[in-house]
Amino acid sequence: MTESAPGAPAGTGRDDGDGDGHGGGAAIVVVGSANADLVVGVERRPGPGETVLGSDLAIHPGGKGANQAVAAARLGGRTALLARVGDDPHGRLLLDALCAAGVGTSGVLVGGAPTGTALITVDPSGDNSIVVAPGANARLTPADVRAARGLLAPARVVSVQLEIPLETVEEVARTVRPGTRLVLNPSPPAALPAGVAAACDVLVVNEHEARVLLAGDPAAGRDRPEDWARALLARGPRAVVVTLGAAGALAADGRGAVRVPSPRVAAVDTTGAGDAFTGALCLRLAAGDGLEPAVRFAVRVGAAAVTRTGAQESYPTARELADH
Ligand code: ADP
Repeated sequence: MTESAPGAPAGTGRDDGDGDGHGGGAAIVVVGSANADLVVGVERRPGPGETVLGSDLAIHPGGKGANQAVAAARLGGRTALLARVGDDPHGRLLLDALCAAGVGTSGVLVGGAPTGTALITVDPSGDNSIVVAPGANARLTPADVRAARGLLAPARVVSVQLEIPLETVEEVARTVRPGTRLVLNPSPPAALPAGVAAACDVLVVNEHEARVLLAGDPAAGRDRPEDWARALLARGPRAVVVTLGAAGALAADGRGAVRVPSPRVAAVDTTGAGDAFTGALCLRLAAGDGLEPAVRFAVRVGAAAVTRTGAQESYPTARELADH
């Protein structure tokens, strides 16, 4: 096993500078998971003790952290990922996909456990059943975050999700500097420590995540995303974005809430749409946009992503988005 520290040449970063005065550091740093998605089509799922034959295996780069970083980088953002993969073929697949998208990989640590893996069966109706083996993602530690201060410090936006240990997310929340906006997509949803919610500039949730986070709160039983957003804002984040699938998104902060419709598209595969949305949101926030314009951009990217199959493979470049 080789262990590489943040800053060590674990890959080719794309810190080529785009004149935004950030001295070559990534404007967007995503701290999160990188998984190999192993996908098999099945006629039906096996019951206990049963074996069924499926389609050929397809292996795709995935994980919410890697997906978001790829989404932002494909759109042209100077983006880096802080993550951990195994010293194995799946880890190399992920590093290759990140590099191909232009994500800086100096913060991708290698070794310590096998690369995280998602075992996905898809039935003829398109429904997924997923088992995740977190592997190396579970070994991304608070110490790794502290060691990556140099990567995090120049970032305008730091984005984090919950497919890595909560204590690591807490360390990110403690580490981000004033002036860096912290974006949190609490997925898979879990109770948020007060320190994380309070450090959060933008909390991005889909309907399911909103309801789980609000379990026990009367707002969870209501059907209006405006009510969920208001209840979530009371937990401490400066802003809340609720994604609403084909209906677009709701952007809310202390001044009020606005619904942003999604462009109408023929949806083919919604896998990873939320990650495309959040990566795009981070890109525009890093460029200095306010919340509402950033959400208007992000719904266009989310809509474009659902018109193609796959997660990372479906994410548009800036040129493809303009043609959309
Ligand atoms: P998640 O992928 O986390 O479940 P959503 O389903 O809310 O999140 O989708 C995230 C974003 O992707 C939406 O806000 C929207 O911009 C876009 N999107 C998702 N599904 C569709 C769709 N059927 N048509 C258009 N846009 C979509």
